[in-house]
Amino acid sequence: MEDSKPWGVYVHIPFCTKKCDYCDFVSFSMDETAQQQYLDALCNEIDLYKMKYADVVFDTLYIGGGTPSSINPELIKRLTQKLYSSLHFADYTEITLEVNPSTFTRDKFLEYVKCGINRMSVGVQSIDSSLLAKIGRKQSLDDVKNTLQLFEQSKFQNTCADVMIGLPGQSKQSVIDTVEFLIKNDVKHISVYTLQVEKHTKLYDNLRKHKYKPMSDERMVSYYDTVAKILLKAGYIRYELSNFARPGFESNHNRKYWDETEYLGLGVAAHSFIDGYRYSNTRRMDRYIDLLRQHKSPIEQREYISDQEHRTERIMLSLRTDDGLDLEKFKKDFDEDLLKTKSNEIDMLLKNNKIEIEDGFLRITQDNFSVSNAIIAELL
Ligand code: SF4
Repeated sequence: MEDSKPWGVYVHIPFCTKKCDYCDFVSFSMDETAQQQYLDALCNEIDLYKMKYADVVFDTLYIGGGTPSSINPELIKRLTQKLYSSLHFADYTEITLEVNPSTFTRDKFLEYVKCGINRMSVGVQSIDSSLLAKIGRKQSLDDVKNTLQLFEQSKFQNTCADVMIGLPGQSKQSVIDTVEFLIKNDVKHISVYTLQVEKHTKLYDNLRKHKYKPMSDERMVSYYDTVAKILLKAGYIRYELSNFARPGFESNHNRKYWDETEYLGLGVAAHSFIDGYRYSNTRRMDRYIDLLRQHKSPIEQREYISDQEHRTERIMLSLRTDDGLDLEKFKKDFDEDLLKTKSNEIDMLLKNNKIEIEDGFLRITQDNFSVSNAIIAELL
C-alpha cells in the first residue's frame, strides 16, 4: 500500500437542526447526549482501521453531513484529534468542513481553524431566503453575509459554496444574483447543482399531491448554461460538470471520487471504496452505535464493482471532468479500444463538435457540458 496514491477520508456527521424538504441524506435532529454517543461510536470505528491502514497515507479529509457546524465544536475537536492520532495524514492534507450559515459563529470558526480545518464549504443554495423557505430551509441572507465576512476578515481563503438550480418559483435572475454575489465575495469554489426530487422526502410528497411543480429540464439546462458562462468569464475553471474553481482551488477530495482513488468512509451511512469494492455502513443510527459499542464493524454491504460497471463508471465520471477520458488507460484496463468499438458515435460527435480528442484524451467540448448526459449515453 505504501506505493499507492494517498487515500481520502469522509466522515459523516448526521445532525441538522431541522430537516429540509428535499433532503434524503441520513440526518437527524438530536440532543447533545446523543451527539456524544455518536462521537464515541465514531472514535471506536476509527480504532477499527488504525492498525489495518497503518501503511496508508491520507491526504484529504472531508467532514460532511448533515450539518457539522450544528454540533458543539468540542466534538469536532475530539474527532479531528482522534483522526490525526490514529491515521497517517500528509502534511499538505486538504481538510474540509461543511458549515451552514445559520449555525456558524465566530467562536466556532476560530475553533475549527485550531482543529486544522483549512477549507470550509458553505451551504448557500440561494441568497433569496424566500425561495429557501419554500423547500423548508431556514437561512437568511444576513447569515450568509456574516459567514463570508468572517472568512474575509480572517483572510481565510479556501472557501466553497453550493448553488442550487430548480427551486420552486426560482427565476433565472435569482440564480444569476446568487452566483454574482458569491463571485463578488471571492468564494473560491462554487458548485452548481440541480434540485432532485428524491423518494421519502417532503418534496416528493408535495409533488405527488400536486403542491409542487418541478422545473423543466430545458429550463434547468438554460439556467446552468447562463451561470456557467458567468463563472467562466469571471476566471473560474469548470473542472467537473457541477464544480467551478479559481485556479489552484479545485477540491482534491472531490477528485478522488472521479478518478477512482480509494477513500475510507466513517460514520452512519458512510461509503468507502477500497481495492475495487464499495462498502456501505448501516444507515440506522441505533445499530451503528450498538455495533461500535461492541467494537464490531458497522459495514452492512460489500459490493464488488464488476468490469462492466467499472467500465460504465469510468466513462461517466471521467467525461464529466475537464481532463476527460484517458483512451490509452481505458484500453489497458478494459481491453477495449473505444475509438474502434464506438467509432460511428465518436465520428458523429466529433463532426458536431460535441467532443474533442487531444493528447489521447477524449473530452466533451466546453459548450456542450450541459448536455453531457446525452453525449455520455452515446458512448456507453
Ligand atoms: S441542512 Fe443539508 S443535510 Fe441537513 S437537512 Fe438540509 S439538506 Fe439535509
